[in-house]
Amino acid sequence: MIDSLRTICRSSAKPRAMKEVMVVVPRFGSAKVAQREVDSLVCNRILDGEEQYLVKWKRIVAPNAYSWHYLPELTLCLALLQDYLKARRERIHSKTSNLKRKSPHAEQRAHLYEHDPQSRSPSVQSSSSESISAKAQALSLGESYNCTVYPDGDHIRVRSSLRLPCAERIPTAEMMAVAATSSTRHASHKIRTHILKRLKALPGPEITYQNIHDASDIPLRFEFIEACVLREGLTRVDPETIVGCQKECRPNMGKNIGCQLSICECLEFAAVQEGRLNEEQWVRYRSNPGDTAGLPKRFPYHTSVAQRDGCLVEFYLRGRHPIYECNHRCNCGPGCNNRMVQHGRQLPLEIFKTKDRGWGLRCPLAIRKGQFIDTYRGEIITDEEADRREARSGKGKESYLYALDKFEDELREREEAPYVVDGEHKGGPTRFMNHSCDPNVLQYTVSYNKYDQKVYDLAFFARRDIPANEELSFDYLDKDEEDNEAGTGVLTSQVDDVEVWTPDDNGTVVPCRCGAEKCRKVLWT
Ligand SMILES: [Zn+2]
Ligand SMILES: [Zn+2]
Ligand SMILES: [Zn+2]
Repeated sequence: MIDSLRTICRSSAKPRAMKEVMVVVPRFGSAKVAQREVDSLVCNRILDGEEQYLVKWKRIVAPNAYSWHYLPELTLCLALLQDYLKARRERIHSKTSNLKRKSPHAEQRAHLYEHDPQSRSPSVQSSSSESISAKAQALSLGESYNCTVYPDGDHIRVRSSLRLPCAERIPTAEMMAVAATSSTRHASHKIRTHILKRLKALPGPEITYQNIHDASDIPLRFEFIEACVLREGLTRVDPETIVGCQKECRPNMGKNIGCQLSICECLEFAAVQEGRLNEEQWVRYRSNPGDTAGLPKRFPYHTSVAQRDGCLVEFYLRGRHPIYECNHRCNCGPGCNNRMVQHGRQLPLEIFKTKDRGWGLRCPLAIRKGQFIDTYRGEIITDEEADRREARSGKGKESYLYALDKFEDELREREEAPYVVDGEHKGGPTRFMNHSCDPNVLQYTVSYNKYDQKVYDLAFFARRDIPANEELSFDYLDKDEEDNEAGTGVLTSQVDDVEVWTPDDNGTVVPCRCGAEKCRKVLWT
């Protein structure tokens, strides 16, 4: 290790500086590198038994400038650190799989995340013992390139320096060779600790986290949000138009179950309970199925403990009728039985790394058939913006975009396009739920304003009883039972159980690996 460090120093600094470089360990007290000034982290090594990362400063801060930093100096740059570790893993992985020196599994094991709470935390020397200029000089001789770095209050600052211009391409090939074999364990640990802390701070039942397969983590840039964020420029139906129940509804009526009335104005467009229509209502309903005011409605949730209290009723489980819940204008109060999704997640969930399908979601408790799990959240954007984002980030992006197109036909009549929820950068734990062609979770439209056909909740309910810790999945393409887009490709041949799908439009095929018996083999094209 020392030999390789020497090689680096020799290749990047004048020989007479060697001794000084090797003995001076620069410390910046509690000062930190600010993420906004950093372009990226580009290399790693071990110095004095501690992990160091090479910061590439933003061009605007100091052009072509690089400096080495210990982990405690980089705690404000954890997202960049995560980017670097990911790139490093991929680099090592592609190298080894190209050379076929090791099996991918051996490679994975070698980089298994090791939890090491007993690890020595780096001691921080007082920065007052040396003058800044002496330190800066030492840094410029091998710890930094084309710049000097110095502490300034809570900040580590950088200044361009042409005293010892570094002509070499940084990081050098030698540096990269050292990087590939130097441990990044403490950096991984720091990132994971940060994620766990963040998950713990979320409201509601606990969201736990597990990855026993590798050192990767969910993106630190992902922001957990409790409600969708409406992007600027998007319009919502005037909240003044929200209609609540106005008649007999009041809190604690009936057996404390709130609304059970067919006349609640808020529920005008809810599914009609046809079996309860009288003759006159039948005639009216037959001639104009759109006019449902005053007709008895099907309430979405069971109200008796004997019948899966609070779970979705069979009628809704079989179909995909939108659910209308009571709203803040209703007289029935928060205890009304017709309010469920609006109260938010009641179940603990676990985000976990699956063996071969990236991140997944599960619940440590058994879930009852029809039980509400959580909503799908994200930024609400326009259709055009969704197209732009998709074009920018390629095929994989599609799996985070969810069109709010339940009322597409009505919107089309008004020449309006549905909005789209983008859950990639902001969202809830359901963002990590995988696709299945035979899912155990169904998604529903849940509306609190019958006049708003563009913004509503997407809510997940259990399709059947789900045992504790079974992975949760929903069908990314299943918008409606009757409007199923299954099979966007053409099954062109089937030899020895190997199906070959050809996309409709010569696009790239995204294969489905859900493993279900009725798997469609193609996610989308
Ligand atoms: Zn009511
Ligand atoms: Zn109500
Ligand atoms: Zn109501």
